[in-house]
Amino acid sequence: MDFEFSEEQRMIQETARRFAVNELEPLAKECDREEKVPPRELLTKAAETGLVGSIIPEAYGGPGFGFVEQAIITEELSKVDLGLCLSVVAATFGSENLVFYGNEDQKQEYLPPLVMGEKISAGAYTEPDAGTDVAGVRTRAVRQGDEYVINGNKMFITNGTTCDWMVALCVTDPDAEKRHQRQSLIIVEADRKGVTRSKITGKMGIRASDTGEISFEDVRVPVDHLVGEEGRGFYQLMHFFDTTRTMVAAQGVGVAQGALDKTVQYVQERKVFGKPLAVNQGIQFQLAEMATRIELARTITYKAAWKVDQGRIDPSLNAMCKYYAGETAVWVCDKALQLHGGYGYIDEYDVQRFYRDAKILEIYEGAKEAEKITISRRLF
Ligand SMILES: Cc1cc2nc3c(=O)[nH]c(=O)nc-3n(C[C@H](O)[C@H](O)[C@H](O)COP(=O)(O)OP(=O)(O)OC[C@H]3O[C@@H](n4cnc5c(N)ncnc54)[C@H](O)[C@@H]3O)c2cc1C
Repeated sequence: MDFEFSEEQRMIQETARRFAVNELEPLAKECDREEKVPPRELLTKAAETGLVGSIIPEAYGGPGFGFVEQAIITEELSKVDLGLCLSVVAATFGSENLVFYGNEDQKQEYLPPLVMGEKISAGAYTEPDAGTDVAGVRTRAVRQGDEYVINGNKMFITNGTTCDWMVALCVTDPDAEKRHQRQSLIIVEADRKGVTRSKITGKMGIRASDTGEISFEDVRVPVDHLVGEEGRGFYQLMHFFDTTRTMVAAQGVGVAQGALDKTVQYVQERKVFGKPLAVNQGIQFQLAEMATRIELARTITYKAAWKVDQGRIDPSLNAMCKYYAGETAVWVCDKALQLHGGYGYIDEYDVQRFYRDAKILEIYEGAKEAEKITISRRLF
């Protein structure tokens, strides 16, 4: 058993850490306050630094890292700002479907521009009436000759209005006996006729990350845009989530650690009753509990990512790390804000942004209750 990062992994960590401090930190407040996505140059710089598309194989221009390296990058960027982290590490969101199930032509065409930061992808699964119950999607793809004709609506899609293409979960066989065999994953370019998109504004957190609503009205795509097998979309997507959940968990670890770091600094500077808050043992104990929970979340997250890289995916472990790291981030950020007192409540201090950002980690890519369903199923 070896809990140490390799030399290469430590270098990746250091590179990501520097990028976060130099490139994300200066943008974080403004993008949050104004609810705006960062300038496109950020993605270009991240791509040049080798932080984009980390699991994309070398054959398609990527670094061919594993999910452990992806988690390292994600943790470091999330320590500074989760919304901006997403605009880098989730700029390739959805493309994992192609890495796992795409054919050679699809990989050659769609993956290299992502790694270069020239294109952005999205995973369009959720609908206004189907989130946790993803098999309940209604977007319909009807085959007509050499094309699919797609109609339907997608909701809460990360990169929804900024992506160049997306992988959409569509119903291709509404009459299939099992409801999980009705769907397929299909690539849809955002500039196809009939695709309309609108930005969702007013988000509580991750305001630097684009979230959109997408509608398809008689959108025609060639049948060669099918990813993997027709009727296997649901199962392919479950495999996708079984890997990408480690990335959401790493976001939780990063957000929690970022909030703790800020708090450790603050309590040493802030004087109450003539002494720094930090000398108070009650406060030290709170910090110790925060650090312990973060370490647990980190350990389980890297273990899960490591198992994915070993080809031994453990859905229950992945569900555990995602739910535990998300809950830890929310819990730690709540304590962190409390320890900042009134200053924590105003946006001059970053801790309130971490507090608002953390909540999404208990909701997207499977609400924590959905994770608990996966875990408890294993127990029986
Ligand atoms: C900012 C943001 C970004 C997102 N990005 C993407 C994206 O890129 N692609 C994408 O496809 N989707 C995305 N989503 C959608 C997200 O994955 C869904 O919101 C999430 O899966 C929950 O679905 P829902 O909102 O429909 O909630 P519902 O399914 O309506 O559930 C509501 C709540 O009920 C509880 N619940 C649900 N089912 C159960 C159950 N069986 N037992 C106990 N409790 C239950 C949970 O607490 C859940 O939060 C994003 C959402 C947000 C807010």
